[in-house]
Amino acid sequence: MKKSKTPSCTRVRQHTRELRRAINLMDFVASGTIHKRTKVCGRQNCRCATDPGARHGPYYEWSRRQDGRLIHSVISPEQAELFTRAIQNYREIQQLLRLWERETAKEVLTPGREKIA
Ligand SMILES: [Zn+2]
Repeated sequence: MKKSKTPSCTRVRQHTRELRRAINLMDFVASGTIHKRTKVCGRQNCRCATDPGARHGPYYEWSRRQDGRLIHSVISPEQAELFTRAIQNYREIQQLLRLWERETAKEVLTPGREKIA
């Protein structure tokens, strides 16, 4: 449904140029959360049984929803770093999309907007 560019389209494109540029610069995108945890192994003679500072780990886990189900993956510290960045990007994109939505609503809902151009 390609239509000729209306002044409204052009204005929204202008007002969202910066946010589209910001999205364009991103690479990894992921939803969910990263958890860092340490574990007690259960062996009674292990130091982790009495010393909280001697617990095993840290271990990283990435949790996210997929098709309505919560999924957990154990990941390496390097992967945790990448996913942390990807999750930040995801949240930033959501914010930018909200701005884009607002620009669209303002443009479409303002009466006589087409004529002002
Ligand atoms: Zn232990």
